[in-house]
Amino acid sequence: LTQLLKDPSLFVTKAFVAGEWVEADNGATFDVTNPARGDVICAVPDLGRAETARAIAAGEQAQKEWGKRTAKERANILRRWFDLMMENQDDLGLILTAEMGKPVAEAKGEVAYGASFIEWFAEEGKRIYGETIPGHQPDKRITVIRQPIGVVGAITPWNFPNAMITRKAGPALAAGCAFISKPAAETPLSALALAVLAERAGLPKGMLSVITSSDAPGIGQEFCENPAVRKLTFTGSTNVGRILLRQAADQVIKCSMELGGNAPFIVFDDADLDEAVIGAIACKFRNNGQTCVCANRIYVQAGVYDAFAEKLTKAVAALKVGDGLSGEADLGPLITDKAVEKVEEHIADATAKGAQIILGGKRHEKGGTFFEPTIVTGATQDMQFSQDETFGPLAPLFKFEDEDDVIAMANDTIFGLASYFYANDLSRVYKVAEALEYGIVGVNTGIISTEVAPFGGVKQSGLGREGSSHGIEDYLEMKYICMSV
Ligand code: ADP
Repeated sequence: LTQLLKDPSLFVTKAFVAGEWVEADNGATFDVTNPARGDVICAVPDLGRAETARAIAAGEQAQKEWGKRTAKERANILRRWFDLMMENQDDLGLILTAEMGKPVAEAKGEVAYGASFIEWFAEEGKRIYGETIPGHQPDKRITVIRQPIGVVGAITPWNFPNAMITRKAGPALAAGCAFISKPAAETPLSALALAVLAERAGLPKGMLSVITSSDAPGIGQEFCENPAVRKLTFTGSTNVGRILLRQAADQVIKCSMELGGNAPFIVFDDADLDEAVIGAIACKFRNNGQTCVCANRIYVQAGVYDAFAEKLTKAVAALKVGDGLSGEADLGPLITDKAVEKVEEHIADATAKGAQIILGGKRHEKGGTFFEPTIVTGATQDMQFSQDETFGPLAPLFKFEDEDDVIAMANDTIFGLASYFYANDLSRVYKVAEALEYGIVGVNTGIISTEVAPFGGVKQSGLGREGSSHGIEDYLEMKYICMSV
């Protein structure tokens, strides 16, 4: 990896605690592997609660001085961090692909997307406005100010090793909060590279720490039990989200939760089918199906079902599977063997219940965790993927007749993150967009992620929103000052 990088100093194998690059207190490490090749890239320090507590204490101290700076000074440092991320986009992309597997073009895209949150919130930080409210008595003057909530603990997944961190770190730091990041154990290197650049940008010591650890539950407990932590922000599975919410209850810590999805993608008979195919591929096969906004259930109206299946099959068959670092792959490997087993389980369950495989269906001849992009027809609501996110390259096609039926099927899930549909009839577009019980609705598009819009789910997909002008609210507390004059 070092040989591939223009700036090898971005590849670091130490953790970043309280502004220092450190080993674990007990010297422990864990391995980071390349999922495309299965080989070990390096080992990183395996930190525990003691180091996390030091990071939190340093953060609590550092944010006092950071909070006294003007918003513009803070914005300038964040802006520099953004610029450095973009200047080093190629290297950050290579590091990301090496540890996570997505094709390098997609990884660079993620770096730009990740950086956009730092740019956006650098700007938003200048606009943390207050309010004045007409008093309730003649001598009363009422002012509302918004202040940083305090030290933030952040736990993030492996599927977006860069962007899931920046969209939390951006608003936290802009609001004035110290940020303690616990990246996924599969992908610590992107987080560490971000920290190198933050340090270079002039972020004061202690404002950002990166806790590399194989003991996620232990770090989660420290975040929830350490009284200095006032905010927990998590992206990951709904199961772990529930655990963290319960733990956070003890100290009544404010939580943001970006949890699982089970996105429906609906193609109505008045849709532009070619556009719908392009959207379905972008939405289903981005990151090889490993995103929480990936289409998990594709509902196609009966009149266009066969035509859509045929067009989709042709387009998906052309996707190239391979090593993300080769520069030629459209789809990389899956993250782990467990992830492959889940895809296999969903396919086996579906075919046992009557679905037909019309493309792919098995492990790829490249071996390892590579899997053939797969399409099944005849999908029904009793199949596992109707309840549970596959998180892999499996596109199940459901057939429906009626608009109300498909809305009911689309909403028949505990999740409510992203949804998509293709239609051209204006009144249908409004009706369906309003009826879908989701935090995000893509209409005639398969790509909805942007720093300018509020991202987040309803139902058991989460709490809070990330990005947009709303994204900073989760890191602020309102204070009402009542003055008698
Ligand atoms: P995924 O399936 O994406 O790995 P997880 O929810 O298991 O989803 O993981 C998301 C993040 O949560 C990772 O950083 C992981 O280390 C962390 N994590 C897993 N279990 C726990 C836990 N009990 N407490 C805190 N963090 C956890």
